[in-house]
Amino acid sequence: MSEARVGLVIEDDQDIRELVRVVLSQAGFDVHVASTGSAGVTSARELNPDVITLDLGLPDIDGFEVARQIRKSSDAYIIMLTARAEELDTLMGLEAGGDDYLTKPFRPRELRARVEAMMRRPRASSESRSVAEEVDPEVSHNGLAVSAGSRTAVLNGTELKLTRTEFDLLLALLETGRIVRTKADLARRLRNEPYDVGSYVSDADERAVEVHMGNLRKKLGDSIQAPRWLETVRGVGYRLAPASSN
Ligand code: CA
Repeated sequence: MSEARVGLVIEDDQDIRELVRVVLSQAGFDVHVASTGSAGVTSARELNPDVITLDLGLPDIDGFEVARQIRKSSDAYIIMLTARAEELDTLMGLEAGGDDYLTKPFRPRELRARVEAMMRRPRASSESRSVAEEVDPEVSHNGLAVSAGSRTAVLNGTELKLTRTEFDLLLALLETGRIVRTKADLARRLRNEPYDVGSYVSDADERAVEVHMGNLRKKLGDSIQAPRWLETVRGVGYRLAPASSN
């Protein structure tokens, strides 16, 4: 019913590489591995993977740069694996194009759970789910045309290159319009969980939502002061900016 999903593991540590390879294989992926950043960038371009795990500490190119280069050609779901627990690294990784991160050592089960939550996301809009109100298959707001079905966002005739995470956040706001969504709500939305079930959201996860929103705002060319799409509600979260007449 669906073709094999492709996973790419970019990791120089052989033991961790093997561990991640096994986790992704068990999750049903056709897994490829790369032990350097440059090999990873090449593989990402050639294989068009669905999921990439990216070690931040690689021998040749640093993981942030690897993520930026991969993002030029790929909308794969990128999970950064970092040995460094500093929040700044994590946020820089997300700014460079990562979707999610895990700090080493991590539990294989946790990695698998994150990958599986992500792989459920793209289909969420076509299935009947309790996650959120359904958005129209095609919706347009202040000149931005978004198709949930084909997962495209077109502004002034140009398709925006959004990551899956950015697209899902944009869709979340389009779904709920002027209702304010907290950062925790949006973090749960990214895990494909209902807004109101109250599963644990860490500060770091909320900060990750902020970074993704910042990236999305940049790609939209949206303004914080006079937003056309992403309105920040200070201290609370985000909502869709009002429809304008111009
Ligand atoms: Ca490493």
